Amino acid sequence: MSDKPVHAPLAQFPVVGDALTIGGLSVERLAAQVGQTPFYAYDRDAMSRRVRDLRETLPDGLSIHYAMKANPMPAVVDHMAGLVDGLDVASLGELRVALDSGMPAAEISFAGPGKGDVELRGAIAAGITLNLESAGEFERALRAGDGLGIAPRVAVRVNPDFELKSSGMKMSGGPKPFGVDAEQVPQLLHRIGQSGAHFRGFHIFSGSQNLRPESLIEAQDATFELAYRLSDDAPGALEMLNIGGGFGIPYFPGEQRLDLSAVSANLGVRLGECHARLGEVEVMIELGRYLVAEAGIYVCRVVDRKESRGLTYLVTDGGLHHHLAASGNFGQVIRKNYPVVTARHVHEGPREVVSVVGPLCTPLDILGDRMELGCADVGDLIVVLQSGAYGYTASPHLFLGHPAPLQVLV
Ligand SMILES: *Cc1c(COP(=O)(O)O)cnc(C)c1O
Repeated sequence: MSDKPVHAPLAQFPVVGDALTIGGLSVERLAAQVGQTPFYAYDRDAMSRRVRDLRETLPDGLSIHYAMKANPMPAVVDHMAGLVDGLDVASLGELRVALDSGMPAAEISFAGPGKGDVELRGAIAAGITLNLESAGEFERALRAGDGLGIAPRVAVRVNPDFELKSSGMKMSGGPKPFGVDAEQVPQLLHRIGQSGAHFRGFHIFSGSQNLRPESLIEAQDATFELAYRLSDDAPGALEMLNIGGGFGIPYFPGEQRLDLSAVSANLGVRLGECHARLGEVEVMIELGRYLVAEAGIYVCRVVDRKESRGLTYLVTDGGLHHHLAASGNFGQVIRKNYPVVTARHVHEGPREVVSVVGPLCTPLDILGDRMELGCADVGDLIVVLQSGAYGYTASPHLFLGHPAPLQVLV
């Protein structure tokens, strides 16, 4: 046995006769049904199981929101809308999909810097909650509300004076384009109080893709303390407190699945304390990747097989232009391999070390670098797992002019 780090075991998709299946079909059969490669496939049962397991783990009374930017495919959002308590959108385009899903406007919030006047107007007309990113944005929201004769429903997104340590992406602490610096929040709260806007509460999101329970607990403790402190200046009782999320999933060799037991126990204590201090406030977490990433795969076909100075390349019809994150170019500092398998030889049969690349004329177009896979020939399907979030919509489809991938929900 080598002690090289390996990928965490992935159990969400049954392997039948050594072939990967999703939604009860082998990937080969699903490819025939879809009619073209490459494509993304998302498994609705895997999403349902994830939300159900999360609800069993997390304390009662904590709401779960889905942050749509992780996967805004309308069919996925419709499915998620039936599972979660609310949706978080980041644009007017996402808002339309959220409203189409039937999620009540009262359970939709809109965060993100640089909301334009048309976006503010659309959000206020819909009656959703605006998570304010700056004092200037609030003034523009007020003017948009005046034009419509509607008091905007607003929460203040806070840029905390702490960070979520060991996160894949840091979104707080220090200067940030996201949210209002904690020390500037009291002034904005007074302005909201004078304005006639409907104040709803706080949104405190400190980071993403975190696999360390102790870091999550530390950030959650600091989040509740900050909310208590800021509530002293609030123009009224808090209706909601969005404590962010940041739960990560294992992508790379050596990463372990996040154990939520200690996080949940701590949240239970904090939730009780929060209700004692702030009254009947709805506390929610907002998660994107954790809810959908493991439910999705990306499938491409081997177009060519070649040897180059001792290394075997599988050249596929998929790559960086469809799946930027798996190529290592979406936020990674050092490129690491996503879990990749040969669709009809997952565990058994002859295996070989190969690099899986795409058709783009750039050395960045890598889906798997020197990985041991079941042997594959031209025509075989290669599957990139952990691909249900930040895949299709986070990739530069136009780069080099190849066709876009398809997406299916099974
Ligand atoms: C991106 C984002 C999320 C979702 O992050 P995940 O890592 O996908 O869970 C949640 N909230 C806000 C404000 C975000 O910007």
